[in-house]
Amino acid sequence: MIKGVHVVPMGFANAFLIEGYDGLTLIDAGYPNKEAAVFGVIRGLGRSLDQLKHLIFTHGHPDHIGSAAAIVRETGARTYMHPLDIPIAESGGPFRPLRAAPGLLRRVMCKVFFHPDERVAPVAIDQPLTAGEILPIADGIEVIHTPGHCAGQVALLWRRGRMLFAGDVCMNVMGLGDPVGFESLKEGRASQRKIASLSFDHAGFGHGEAIAHDASTRFLNTYGKYSEDVHQQRSAA
Ligand SMILES: [Zn+2]
Ligand SMILES: [Zn+2]
Repeated sequence: MIKGVHVVPMGFANAFLIEGYDGLTLIDAGYPNKEAAVFGVIRGLGRSLDQLKHLIFTHGHPDHIGSAAAIVRETGARTYMHPLDIPIAESGGPFRPLRAAPGLLRRVMCKVFFHPDERVAPVAIDQPLTAGEILPIADGIEVIHTPGHCAGQVALLWRRGRMLFAGDVCMNVMGLGDPVGFESLKEGRASQRKIASLSFDHAGFGHGEAIAHDASTRFLNTYGKYSEDVHQQRSAA
């Protein structure tokens, strides 16, 4: 679909495998017991498991770290996460509570899919992510801190592929919209505006279908009125 990126379905959550000259990079690790999906994609590329060099987490929720311990055990991949979520990943939960996002669908999904008391296999994090840094992975992956859904949520902009990995800043289930819930709705809106101000062609989400073309235009159209607020704030400043 998108050159050099493979979507790995891991239950009702996506992980993404990037093929770089410097090896393979996985973004997120899905629900528990889904590691075979990742290994299948790696082997399908004619690669060996030890060629997975990096595992970068968009945030520390159970549906994004669930199979991480098993993946690291088999591959030896180096792990990366924002410092605010590291203690949660390294204890395997419990997780900070969420308030459901506006709307009936999100309220139902939040109840069904998010359980703060859930426990998953703990995963050790090798490297804390810093807001604004460009990781020297796959020719450069920019780390954008995007709290709101989760305090340690980051979006990852893979510059060479012009692809944004949004994690749960938004989801693309029946259209581009909010994630199931927020720790802070206000921060979440600010993060959505931040993403809408970037330029990229493709977007991948923790939940729902990836957008293959003109992705940043879709973000602008969806969060346009929020973006205008930002411009007004900018011109007022
Ligand atoms: Zn999440
Ligand atoms: Zn999620």
